[in-house]
Amino acid sequence: MPEKEIFTVGVNRRLILKAGAYGACIFCLAPVTGCAFFQESNQETPADPKFDPASVSTKKGLIKSELSPWFSSLDDKAVRCELCPKSCVLPVGERGHCRVRENREGEGYTLVYGNPALVQEDPVERKPFFHVLPGSRALSISTAGCNLACKFCEVWDMALVSPEEVHAYDMPPEKVIALALEGNVPSISYAFGEPVVFYEYMCAIAEKAREAGLLNLMHTAGYINPEPLLALAEKLDAVNFDLKGFNAEFYREYVGGELETALENLKSFRDSGVHIEITSIVIPTVNDDMKIIGEMCRWIAEELGPEVPLHFARFYPLYRLSNLPRTPVSTLEKAREIALEAGLKYVYLAKVTGHAAENTFCPNCAEKVVGRVGFVIEELNLENGSCNFCGSDLPGLWA
Ligand code: SF4
Repeated sequence: MPEKEIFTVGVNRRLILKAGAYGACIFCLAPVTGCAFFQESNQETPADPKFDPASVSTKKGLIKSELSPWFSSLDDKAVRCELCPKSCVLPVGERGHCRVRENREGEGYTLVYGNPALVQEDPVERKPFFHVLPGSRALSISTAGCNLACKFCEVWDMALVSPEEVHAYDMPPEKVIALALEGNVPSISYAFGEPVVFYEYMCAIAEKAREAGLLNLMHTAGYINPEPLLALAEKLDAVNFDLKGFNAEFYREYVGGELETALENLKSFRDSGVHIEITSIVIPTVNDDMKIIGEMCRWIAEELGPEVPLHFARFYPLYRLSNLPRTPVSTLEKAREIALEAGLKYVYLAKVTGHAAENTFCPNCAEKVVGRVGFVIEELNLENGSCNFCGSDLPGLWA
């Protein structure tokens, strides 16, 4: 198999080892010396996966497609996609901005239903969820395609390509559930790529997962229309929302979307009652203005509440911003200080393995209730979400 295809086939333990042998990151295939996941945050997966997705064969190219209800009909057999704010209008034969939704003879299809390009079991902390079943493992699912275009995308060679350009599994929702149960994982995570673009597939899996007693976790930029958002939120248990900055111009230029839409959707997810965590990447010279970071933290505290966990993620040079340096740890620490001053109670630093800000401290007694080193839980002083030292309840899904 050519080296370039190792990642797009879908990551599994065997391929992790192979990619490692090439000295390339399993997520972005950048050299390990320049990669977000291997620099300083590099670590072994804590335990052996209980199943091996490599036992399921993969195929490059479209496997199958599914009619989607999220299209409306226009004149001349054109359709408009109602899934996200891009509102793509597609003449017959055309695809949307996300590359995975197509007009076929006047009907809208999703091209990635049942065709994940990534199937992988890994720690829930990698999703990243720090307030959901610490130390547990999740089955991650992702497909090709994305409705945004981040210049700092960490998974660009899966997310920013067409489904024909990746290897994918032929994996209907029932098979995903069977894999999760076989692996004895308590949750399914729609992550790595942008789950909004495999909405129909995600919803079908989520319904079956709930029936099977599994949690549904989503890591998303949340660029989706209100109606599908609400229908989806009913099926989810937790959302890690990528709030990529707090400046409208930055969002347009570096993300390809509207900040205001992201903020409204973040509030909608919060109002729906699902557990929310936020990830915010800090990129040197691009979105590291502490005044704006302060505005974002105050907005989170006021609009969502001070108990929403916030993860500041370190930027590493890749994709279209490979000319920029990685984020200094001091910058992340300053951002965290500002967030704490704004009243946020749980502020973490991501991809800075070994930093004290990976731990969870009880906001009432200040004791360490979850000790982490990267994705590994080293200490757990919580009983069903209550601090073992003072009995205070922490927000999250703990059992
Ligand atoms: S989901 Fe894709 S096709 Fe639909 S509006 Fe968004 S970018 Fe366009």
